[in-house]
Amino acid sequence: MGYAKIGLKAGLEIHQQLDTNKLFCACPSVIRKDKPDLVVTRELRPLAGETGEIDPAAIFEGKKRKFYKYEAYNDTTCLVELDEEPPHKINQEALEAALLVAKMLHCDIPETIQIMRKTVVDGSNTSGFQRTCLIGTNGYLDTKYGKVGIQNINLEEDACRRTNEDKESVTFRLDRLGIPLIEIGTAPDIKTPEQGRELAEKIGMLLRSTGKVKRGLGTIRQDLNVSIKGGTRIEIKGVQALKQIPALIEKEVERQQKIIAKKQKVKPEVRNAQEDGTTKFLRPLPGAARMYPETDIPLIPISRLRIETLKIPESIAKKEERFVKLGLSKDLAQTMSRWKNVKLFEKLVKENPKVKPNVIASTLLSIPKQVKKKVDHKFIPTDEQYAIVFSLLNKGKIVKEALLDIFVELSKQKDIEKVIIDFEKLSDKELKEEIKNIKEKNKSASEGKLIGIAMSKLRTRADPKKIMQLIKKT
Ligand SMILES: [Zn+2]
Repeated sequence: MGYAKIGLKAGLEIHQQLDTNKLFCACPSVIRKDKPDLVVTRELRPLAGETGEIDPAAIFEGKKRKFYKYEAYNDTTCLVELDEEPPHKINQEALEAALLVAKMLHCDIPETIQIMRKTVVDGSNTSGFQRTCLIGTNGYLDTKYGKVGIQNINLEEDACRRTNEDKESVTFRLDRLGIPLIEIGTAPDIKTPEQGRELAEKIGMLLRSTGKVKRGLGTIRQDLNVSIKGGTRIEIKGVQALKQIPALIEKEVERQQKIIAKKQKVKPEVRNAQEDGTTKFLRPLPGAARMYPETDIPLIPISRLRIETLKIPESIAKKEERFVKLGLSKDLAQTMSRWKNVKLFEKLVKENPKVKPNVIASTLLSIPKQVKKKVDHKFIPTDEQYAIVFSLLNKGKIVKEALLDIFVELSKQKDIEKVIIDFEKLSDKELKEEIKNIKEKNKSASEGKLIGIAMSKLRTRADPKKIMQLIKKT
């Protein structure tokens, strides 16, 4: 399709959760699956704003006349999330991450940051607004198909999570409320569906390279804006995967074209992405002026020095290249460079020069799965357990063939000191003795059989090459 001819304009809005504590209180950013400790019920009604008009989106939500229930936890949510206590100072770690992203995207960063309140009408914020602040404007990112403008980067608080809904009420969980989000809004510079996919992917990689973002389902959300000549801007929410983006753009173009062909007007609205690339009406497009200053938090000055000293992290592509040079296969380097705990890998490589980086990488990436296969329960070794095991390997106190068995034992909650004793590498003398015993006990066995017996008995405590040599020699 000639997308230039039909005047396709599309932009992305990306919301990425940060892996820090909450933005305006010290609560941890954890999503809870267990039963909440308390539930608070409230009612939220639409009121006219400063202009005297009620936001169309507010009227739409208000018609539902629902009560809102908020589920809270004693230990991971506090009075800030319940809007019973003013917000604390902004989380500096989150602010730092947002400033870094703004710098990486070549944005202008304001000298003073002002926290704003953005009206929220669906009950997903206990206060009725979401706190947000502008961190950068006027940036750009290069794609294969040309430069894409970055209009704005905001740092804001995530909303509550909807856990239930019935005729009278909607239930929200406070666990997600206040998790810092970086919002990146691109200019409508996407000119083809494929460019949309590439752009989202590039921004995703850039965010991950900071090492400050959460990973996994629901931690990144993408919204798409799509318009064509004669149509209007439609916001598509709930884009789950990058690969959906081209289809969503294509189908939205088709939808608007069909309406225009019938000589009807395309209504500005928010639509929800479906898995097949189609969309469903969600709500009218909210009015634009819905922000007012947050008076509970003073202005935040941002010194130029602070921005200058922010270090641009190594890109994921560069990291991958470097790992290949360390001896990792292309596949392993690709997976490791994107792994959430890649810092641990780098640390272990540095601390254990005698262990091949390849062994460290494949162990880190495969051990949890392999252990689960053996013991049938989930086990992820701690960073400290990894550190101890690899340092023993580095010192030649254990052999790499013992790694899986050691972690299997550790998964049974045993004391690491006790576990290690059973796997201590045999000295040459001890090994000779063991081999001699095996030979004596199995006098009639063939060499192949002897190797089999020796391997099964000594595999985790001696170098397999040495075992073979000794059997053949003596
Ligand atoms: Zn809190």
